[in-house]
Amino acid sequence: MERIYLDNAATTQLDPEVIEAMLPYMHEVYGNPSAIHAFGRKARAGIEQARRMVAKLLHCAPGEIVFTSCGTEADNMAVFGSVRDLGVKHVITSPIEHHAVEHVAQALERTKEAEVHWLRLQPDGKADLAHLEELLKAHQNVLVSLMHANNELGTRNDLMAIGTLCRKYGALFHTDTVQTMGHYRFDLEQLPIDFLTCSAHKFHGPKGVGFLYMRSSSVLRPMIVGGAQERNMRAGTENIIGIVALAKAMEVAYRDLDEHQRHIQALKDRMRERILANIPGSSVNGDPSPDSLYTVLNIHLPDDGKAEMLIYNMDIEGIACSGGSACSSGSNKGSHVIDALYPGRMGANIRFSFSKFNTEADVDRAAEVLEKVVMPVGV
Ligand code: PLP
Repeated sequence: MERIYLDNAATTQLDPEVIEAMLPYMHEVYGNPSAIHAFGRKARAGIEQARRMVAKLLHCAPGEIVFTSCGTEADNMAVFGSVRDLGVKHVITSPIEHHAVEHVAQALERTKEAEVHWLRLQPDGKADLAHLEELLKAHQNVLVSLMHANNELGTRNDLMAIGTLCRKYGALFHTDTVQTMGHYRFDLEQLPIDFLTCSAHKFHGPKGVGFLYMRSSSVLRPMIVGGAQERNMRAGTENIIGIVALAKAMEVAYRDLDEHQRHIQALKDRMRERILANIPGSSVNGDPSPDSLYTVLNIHLPDDGKAEMLIYNMDIEGIACSGGSACSSGSNKGSHVIDALYPGRMGANIRFSFSKFNTEADVDRAAEVLEKVVMPVGV
């Protein structure tokens, strides 16, 4: 049986061009980038070239990019760091953030290091900007942390609108762009953003590497100490292979962005139309409009008694998809995102997430399997 991978919001397959770019750093370029000899200098050059590539693609300064071990680390650094180092006393965030932000906010709440304000959401999961403005008016020394696109639903926030409000009231703005980096363009000269989180494995780079963009006006102290790496921002010998690969993955993603966006959007539309037409009672979770993240389709299915087994049954038929976020990928246990948006609702939720490597045949087969799994014979 040929297996079909439709769980690209959890992680993606490495791009062959990225593998190619990693190879020299697995063979001949093995010096420690902190060493002053030629071996070290060559490794250092690879890292700095990668940093320049990322900065060029995002329209920021290379010194504003700090490579991290993952998106989770970058999220932790931005939220914990702004409370510790920048005098933040109030954190405004939403109940549908990734746990890498949500759990940090809860920890700050528990220790009373900051007061956390949970933003109201619109029915499609977008931030309620009127509520945001109310909160910003009422408080000072604020960090707003709101993700660009939700990893489960695909609902996208308007970064320009949120950032503009933050600037108006003097608040700092962090956004988790883990699901959108490499899939949408970002111009940090224009966007009023102070911190931005990226993870390479969501756009065909390797796992275990990401970065935090930190505007030069909002510099944090390191969270990991014990060395001068990353310009004193993060101690520890650098993951050179990962860093070089991240930059290559970004370069490839932005080079081919328009073509891939068209291709993937068409796959998502095709699958959504087919499911909604063929499965009675099915609906789209989150934002059903074309504004939603084109790589993610989250479907609600009425409870037919087989909800818990849905993801397992899809897998048995060779379709890899998810019932929640990446961390619960493969299990269909409750999702804090679905619970926050649709409290108490019965039924099953299933997330299909697409990449440039998927085909029309993949989505047709997945839709056919879903129909078979969900609908009793003869319906
Ligand atoms: N933020 C979002 C929105 C995500 O989807 C993920 C991964 O699932 C992360 C953060 C965590 O990234 P990483 O796996 O690199 O720690």
